[in-house]
Amino acid sequence: MQKVKQFLNPTFMSQLAMALAIILTFIAITLVVTHRGMPRVHTPVTPAENKTVVVVASGDTLGKILVDQGLNNSDVNQIADVLKKNAGISTLRADNDKIEFVRNGDDAPVSKIVVIPSPWKQVELTCGENGGWNCNTIEVERDTRAVYKSGEIKNGDSFYLAGIRAGIPAGVLIDVYDLLAFEMDFERDVRAGQHFSVLYEENFAHGAKVDNGHVLAVQFEALRGNVKMYRFKKSDGTSGYYDENGNGAIKSLKRTPINNAKVTSNFSSGRKHPILGFTRAHKGVDFRAATGTPIPAAGAGRVIARGFNRGHGNYVKIRHNGSYETLYAHLSKFAKGVVVGTAVRQGQIIGYAGSTGMSTGPHLHYEIIKDGKHVNPLTVKLPAISNLGDADKKKFIEYRKTLDNGIEMLTQNPKWFIQM
Ligand SMILES: [Zn+2]
Repeated sequence: MQKVKQFLNPTFMSQLAMALAIILTFIAITLVVTHRGMPRVHTPVTPAENKTVVVVASGDTLGKILVDQGLNNSDVNQIADVLKKNAGISTLRADNDKIEFVRNGDDAPVSKIVVIPSPWKQVELTCGENGGWNCNTIEVERDTRAVYKSGEIKNGDSFYLAGIRAGIPAGVLIDVYDLLAFEMDFERDVRAGQHFSVLYEENFAHGAKVDNGHVLAVQFEALRGNVKMYRFKKSDGTSGYYDENGNGAIKSLKRTPINNAKVTSNFSSGRKHPILGFTRAHKGVDFRAATGTPIPAAGAGRVIARGFNRGHGNYVKIRHNGSYETLYAHLSKFAKGVVVGTAVRQGQIIGYAGSTGMSTGPHLHYEIIKDGKHVNPLTVKLPAISNLGDADKKKFIEYRKTLDNGIEMLTQNPKWFIQM
């Protein structure tokens, strides 16, 4: 009874009407922003005279499935050919792909074959009058809704546990991990009381939920400050994540900590050591740098070692996240205030180049350690850093404001979603 009253309350009704109006404006804007020039095709309704659906099982081949359905070798070859040429399908994936066979009567030959390699794509093969097979690829219409989930880290929580408790699907959480990987260390920088939120896509087809889409916005109260990221499609069609001001938000490691420094010795699994004289691996890259050249941290992180050893001389080691560490060796001195435990930001000076330890002259020896293994800093795969041009930046700011308004409404009404 109370609920009904609340619904009939005129203040509530006017608030609801206002919120709906805002949401409609938002939809109109997002449609313009995100779906301009993106044609959509509706799935035609198939007359279901006689339909057989085969789910591809392990060990199945296209040939076997087609022959089982009564098609002859000439058809099999033609269909395989057309599928490869026109739809790019040359192999079937067990437990994933489905094939539909349509007949115009119980004993009639197959007149149409629909290969379904994903919930969003159907490849229709129809038999023409001359006996040839034609191929037509259809994109299934996607109904995308943005949903908002927020949570708080409780004592003893990992971000993962807190995220699951907030109702964020595991797959979406993994995307969030990747987005924030160089922003914070999920093993060590998570504290009780930190708040986070995620706006992400849920994809529907014909009214039923199929899968989750992209993370559209993420916010985390990290130790180094509140991190916000928004997904935005640039005018060139590529998408990236940006902070509130439209700067590339995906942090990464710099392959060369000092700008324009010449590589004097490359990473190698075996080389003749200039001082030791025998062959040993060079676990990093050497950059030419005069004594005293400031050495910036290659990425945000925490100093986990600062000291001296015979090989490295004065060195600093930084842990960036659960996977990456970097090491800087042969330093002449350390930067003031940089000690074990110091949180550093990307570009912060951690020390000065020199020739301490086993070194033939002033240079920076730089290592990247991924999951405990040394990798080549110049070639290791790292997240791409993307920036916006002036025009895109302007568009981004408008889009971001609209998205923020939408998020604000979803905060008040957690059951609502934004129709994209
Ligand atoms: Zn070296």
